[in-house]
Amino acid sequence: MQNIIYSRSNVGKSSLIKALFSLAPEVEVRVSKKPGHTKKMNFFKVGKHFTVVDMPGYGYRAPEDFVDMVETYLKERRNLKRTFLLVDSVVGIQKTDNIAIEMCEEFALPYVVNCINKIDKSSKGHLLKQVLQIQKFVNTKTQGCFPQLFPVSAVTFSGIHLLRCFIASVTGNLD
Ligand code: GDP
Repeated sequence: MQNIIYSRSNVGKSSLIKALFSLAPEVEVRVSKKPGHTKKMNFFKVGKHFTVVDMPGYGYRAPEDFVDMVETYLKERRNLKRTFLLVDSVVGIQKTDNIAIEMCEEFALPYVVNCINKIDKSSKGHLLKQVLQIQKFVNTKTQGCFPQLFPVSAVTFSGIHLLRCFIASVTGNLD
């Protein structure tokens, strides 16, 4: 059973995965030394329970074989439980995010445009504006997207616990 974390490069996928597993030292999470340089898919196995996949970032600095690699994977992987699209709270949904959202809709994947990362970098007013905009987008423009947003910060850990609980719940591990 797999969960995918997916975003433009540099939005903080690797950092988020590291934050999610900060209480599980047995799961070794590597964050590329150069920020925004995840070029391959990285798999983090959580015992027998589930695996989290760190996808290469799309948009700026995307690897050349990105479309072949990611599209094929999303289309053909049968044990995908959830795809999490991570959006940067400072800039909101970008053009390239829309392409990723269309891909999730087209392949009818259960996904969440949930993760709004770097909330520590936005002022409260700006964050509220972004959250409301993204919520409106999810409500009016998507079919398969989970309605709840998860604003998080991989730096301050704000919102991380709720996201952990959500992942535990959708993978059937919340006892
Ligand atoms: P990836 O390409 O999506 O895997 O992004 P990285 O995890 O490499 O993060 C890109 C950059 O954003 C790094 O410099 C991180 O330190 C920074 N970053 C990631 N998450 C956060 C966050 O929640 N808050 C802040 N302020 N910076 C973050």
